[in-house]
Amino acid sequence: MNIILLGPPGAGKGTQAQRLVEAHGMRQLSTGDMLRAAVKAGTPVGLQAKAVMERGELVSDEIVSALIGEELDAMGPGTGAIFDGYPRTAAQAASLDAILGARGRTLDHVIELDVDEDALVERICGRYTCANCGKGYHDKFEQPRIPGVCDKCGSTEFKRRPDDNEETVRTRMAEYRAKTAPILPIYEERGIVSRVNGMADIDHVTAAIEKILKD
Ligand code: AMP
Repeated sequence: MNIILLGPPGAGKGTQAQRLVEAHGMRQLSTGDMLRAAVKAGTPVGLQAKAVMERGELVSDEIVSALIGEELDAMGPGTGAIFDGYPRTAAQAASLDAILGARGRTLDHVIELDVDEDALVERICGRYTCANCGKGYHDKFEQPRIPGVCDKCGSTEFKRRPDDNEETVRTRMAEYRAKTAPILPIYEERGIVSRVNGMADIDHVTAAIEKILKD
């Protein structure tokens, strides 16, 4: 099964993708994570993407589509893909069709996480992750059980994304509204779009997604 999780920054795409990975052995393909890894490693792609990401603008379609193709090739053909943060433009949506088609895959579901944008700024600006295992936390909504110690792996190192500040978040949301939301009709025409209330608590959102995947 191949699915897209769609929604503005902070909608919970990454959190839900991680849960699907754990429950079903699917693979999360997050272009944001791939780009952050490239920036950290100082690769040519990372050098090109760094400033664009810091401004909250979109990296070029060619770069992200190439990353997705490489990741899919590294996966077993039987492993399902969860696209998280990709596609973000009409050109990327067209590339994804070609990329999947060339690999004998089809797109089964596009799940849109519906959220209240004003609440997102608070969600995003308080979030951080374990630097070792990537588990997500939040200053207000989800602190580790023992302060400063990761619940999952015991690490005491945490990190925040440099683009999780209010100014950049506003730009990222404007990019979403202008370039990403308009791709939904492409998938609506195919009858594969489902909407989930992304403002519900995390377990409810997971249950709603599971229901869609079973139907
Ligand atoms: P994310 O982790 O999905 O919020 O992405 C963080 C940043 O990486 C975005 O604000 C963009 O600058 C860049 N990025 C991630 N995915 C894409 C994509 N599919 N197309 C263009 N830029 C992207």
